[in-house]
Amino acid sequence: MSFSPIAVVGAGFSGTLTAIHLALRLPDWPVILFEESKEAGPGLAYRQDDAHALLNVPARRMSAFPDEPDHFYQYVRRQFGDTVGPEDFLPRRVYGAYIKNCLEEALGKCTNLRVDHRGVIDVQTNPSGSAALITLKDHTVQMCSRVVLATGNQGSAFSSSLWAQHTLPGRKASSYEKIAPGDTVLVIGTGLTMIDAVLELERQGNAAEIHAISRNGLLPRHYRPASSLATPDLSELPDVPLRESVRLFRRALKEHEKQGGDWRDLFAALRPTTPALWQEMSPRDRKRFLRFVSPFWEVHRHQCAPASREKFDKLVDLGKVDLRRGTIVSVENKDGRLRLGLAPRNRAAATRWLDADHIIDATGPARDISTITHPLIANLLRRGFLVPDENRLGAQVHPDYRALQRGGEPSDWLFITGPMLRARFFEATAVPELRLHAAALAARVAADLNARTLIPAGVI
Ligand SMILES: Cc1cc2nc3c(=O)[nH]c(=O)nc-3n(C[C@H](O)[C@H](O)[C@H](O)COP(=O)(O)OP(=O)(O)OC[C@H]3O[C@@H](n4cnc5c(N)ncnc54)[C@H](O)[C@@H]3O)c2cc1C
Repeated sequence: MSFSPIAVVGAGFSGTLTAIHLALRLPDWPVILFEESKEAGPGLAYRQDDAHALLNVPARRMSAFPDEPDHFYQYVRRQFGDTVGPEDFLPRRVYGAYIKNCLEEALGKCTNLRVDHRGVIDVQTNPSGSAALITLKDHTVQMCSRVVLATGNQGSAFSSSLWAQHTLPGRKASSYEKIAPGDTVLVIGTGLTMIDAVLELERQGNAAEIHAISRNGLLPRHYRPASSLATPDLSELPDVPLRESVRLFRRALKEHEKQGGDWRDLFAALRPTTPALWQEMSPRDRKRFLRFVSPFWEVHRHQCAPASREKFDKLVDLGKVDLRRGTIVSVENKDGRLRLGLAPRNRAAATRWLDADHIIDATGPARDISTITHPLIANLLRRGFLVPDENRLGAQVHPDYRALQRGGEPSDWLFITGPMLRARFFEATAVPELRLHAAALAARVAADLNARTLIPAGVI
């Protein structure tokens, strides 16, 4: 009996791992991993472009498989020998090679798994609405029993701004080739992407002045291993309104630090329960959290590799980089020279003007999927198969990963994984969570399809 394949769209970390789990769980079911770029596995985060950038998480916590916590660490020990320690921050391209290696091993083992380097540009349903017809970039149409959307980090938070045309993407190596000796560079964003951008500018050596701009000027804190002290009980947090839980959390932090512990311990302790906390928050508290708490939350939660933060701090101390706070109110291009208007937080103060040769967009991936211009996402939104959540963090999704369609019904055939899951789980950005989602989604799809194996291709 033959079955319509399962299509996994996007072969970054999330799609690759989902496809591997699916192929292992459903050995008789074809699984096609679609990846429009030339490399399947690394995705946006771990491509070779970022030759020097480091992971933000130590080696021991970067296994791709939840039930084999040492998998990545053992891989790097085999590659580089005993000098690699579990707390080391390795180059991101090493992680890209690791994911590629996981995929190659799975392709060797699972004859039902294959990679297709054609982009997916549209999806429609069959007449009964139970399966999908996907359209590829060469206009081939492929019938699929299930589609897993793993298209990940697309666009940037600034890419929908009026002034995006004046910026260079911070994640592209070619952006840095445009910087000439003595140029002044403005970098938009002060998060992890900005630190990567500034370190790349410094390596390249041409920029004479670098200004990093954001609304709040907050910088990601540097990582430190957990202290050995037990963390205080945080079980009361879900039962109280946001204001009270923030107060309790801050009190617990202070108490923990007084005992000799580190604030990072509490952020780590809260991480597994963050999705439950997010779901229990009232809609009003979620909005308040995003507006008032999340800028602080993000810089503590998403920490920076210590070596990267140290290098960055040195550049600030030397006056090579300066940090500016404010809201961008205009960007003009006058005869090739850019002029950016920055309104200070103090509304009474006048707009400041910054002149530059280049502006680098280092605002990080877009969360609002309605701003993504890729035809696949635009078509899915237009057809109502994909719906943004009200906070514009990702896509509306059922707890079992089925996309919620316009009208609120879960789809029979479309599943979502990767950072778009932030809308439901909030904590769905980094490998320690994304690997759990990839495995759980595959288990869900496999259970569903195994229960239907008696129905032939074309019907499901
Ligand atoms: C720069 C960066 C560094 C990070 N560093 C760390 C870290 O150190 N530690 C950590 O735990 N987390 C880190 N993260 C977070 C996390 O690991 C990544 O966001 C994660 O890799 C997301 O993977 P993904 O597969 O969901 O998305 P992506 O990596 O964005 O992959 C999506 C893939 O889908 C493909 N695609 C998109 N649309 C289509 C289409 N229509 N048809 C076919 N293919 C398509 C794209 O080409 C891409 O390869 C980092 C994230 C970024 C952006």
